[in-house]
Amino acid sequence: MSNSFDNQVLVLNRLWQPVNVCTARRAIGLLFLGHAQVVGTFEDNLFSTHNFESWARLEDGPEGWPVVHTVSDWFWLPTIIVLTVFDRFPRKEIKFSRENVFQRDDHVCQYCGKRFENRELNLDHVIPRDKGGATSWENIVCSCIRCNTKKGNKLPSEARMAPMKKPVAPHWRPLVSLQREVHKGYHESWRLFLEPNASSVTLSA
Ligand SMILES: [Zn+2]
Repeated sequence: MSNSFDNQVLVLNRLWQPVNVCTARRAIGLLFLGHAQVVGTFEDNLFSTHNFESWARLEDGPEGWPVVHTVSDWFWLPTIIVLTVFDRFPRKEIKFSRENVFQRDDHVCQYCGKRFENRELNLDHVIPRDKGGATSWENIVCSCIRCNTKKGNKLPSEARMAPMKKPVAPHWRPLVSLQREVHKGYHESWRLFLEPNASSVTLSA
């Protein structure tokens, strides 16, 4: 059963946003250190959280959940954990890409504030390239084609167009890039967290 320790576990941040995937081995390590809690899904959309001790003592797990056996005991393998502290999970460098910029800006043109489809969006250099602007998270924003054309090669002050939000590198990977990494056939309990229009999560006391 040792392979079970390589099962994928979904990692949520303190805001219950999916931010990464790790092995069950790593998840148990974080749990043991108190850096994470297990998310147990029991009834429809009802979630409970457990620390290491309460999880290990849990007898009635959900049907079909993986179990791991140790020398003297067994316990349910977590399928989702939620971090209890910030910054305890090594951040992967988020790839600077067109799609990840769209994700960071939520497909909202940073000049007119409207949301667009990918094909109607461009990347805009806030400080134009020929004025020394870098192609980086801090100088690239999502822009609709119309605003992009209107701004042209002008500085924000010249065009009187400034991005709604100061562009920065995202701390957490955008959901789409996470979804791409998740293997098919992920555990049923992940669905609520990986599907964009998932209904709201209810925490049990
Ligand atoms: Zn626009």
